[in-house]
Amino acid sequence: MRPLRDTFADGTPSFSFEFFPPKTDRGSRVLWDAIRRIEPFAPSFVSVTYGAGGSSRDRTVEVTKRIAAETTLRPVAHLTAVGHSVAELRHIIGQYADAGVRDVLALRGDPPGDPRAEWTAHPDGFTHARELVSLIRDTGDFSVGVAAFPEMHPRSPDWATDIRHFVAKCRAGADYAITQMFFHVEDYLRLRDRVAAAGCHIPIIPEIMPATDVRQIGRFAELSGAAFPEELARRLDAVRDDPAAGHAIGVEHATAMAERLLAEGAPGLHYITLNRSTATVEIHRNVMNSRSAHHVLAAPR
Ligand code: FAD
Repeated sequence: MRPLRDTFADGTPSFSFEFFPPKTDRGSRVLWDAIRRIEPFAPSFVSVTYGAGGSSRDRTVEVTKRIAAETTLRPVAHLTAVGHSVAELRHIIGQYADAGVRDVLALRGDPPGDPRAEWTAHPDGFTHARELVSLIRDTGDFSVGVAAFPEMHPRSPDWATDIRHFVAKCRAGADYAITQMFFHVEDYLRLRDRVAAAGCHIPIIPEIMPATDVRQIGRFAELSGAAFPEELARRLDAVRDDPAAGHAIGVEHATAMAERLLAEGAPGLHYITLNRSTATVEIHRNVMNSRSAHHVLAAPR
């Protein structure tokens, strides 16, 4: 399998899906049902998030290895520095290498429990994602991804500092970045332009989160701090007791965003699935259909 960095190099937009490690057997069945539904679309990769601590971390490793062993998909393992010594991080990276997983998303992570609490590094660990990028790069032939923040990382004092630290991750060897969820295309475009102006040209893949229920909005803000469009919030609120209508609105909005991002030259789309394939598969189908319609129209006679 060629490294992910080569996949980005050919200029065709990448399409990828994100899962989280399930806690229960039922959750595991739901996840594997979603994985099997997504597999025929042959995405560029699928990624598995890394838990805040304990057994969820082992489950990330298990699910990632199983995807590598039992499917045709390319798994990207998220890995955070939270609570790990460098020796432990090396061990996890080694486990991935043994399982043939060569793609890692290198993250600092947030303090467990309260993500806004003061960040404290493990005494033998890392303070910033940049150090983890260097470790993975030095350990073997991995493609390394990093996080990017269209509305600035919440702990950054200003844009100049945020971009400087982002560029340091590129210089340490990051091959690409995936953004935090966001709901205004302009935020992504501004980030991309700022990063390019600072001399970093790695692909920055926008994350697409379908918002299908007004009750999710508070949780999104908690997770990401992303500003939610008032108009979309109003539309979802008007159908709060009609899940099918909420679903249709969320899919329509995310499809429009995804199409605009690609039209603006985004190098791909990374869909958050929450382990349910229905909304993201619909959005992906819509995007593919409009791209092929566009190509047919644009094709020379
Ligand atoms: P960093 O790049 O280290 O940045 C964190 C802060 O430190 C920023 O404000 C940065 O500007 C600042 N900084 C960086 N370098 C320096 C320096 N040298 N001196 C001073 N300040 C500096 N979390 C999980 O727990 N599990 C996951 O699976 C997960 N997946 C994610 C996937 C994506 C696509 C994204 C966008 C986020 C994900 N997160 C995940 C959340 C992420 O761990 C948090 O947002 C975290 O707060 C930032 O991680 P980072 O890798 O960007 O950290």
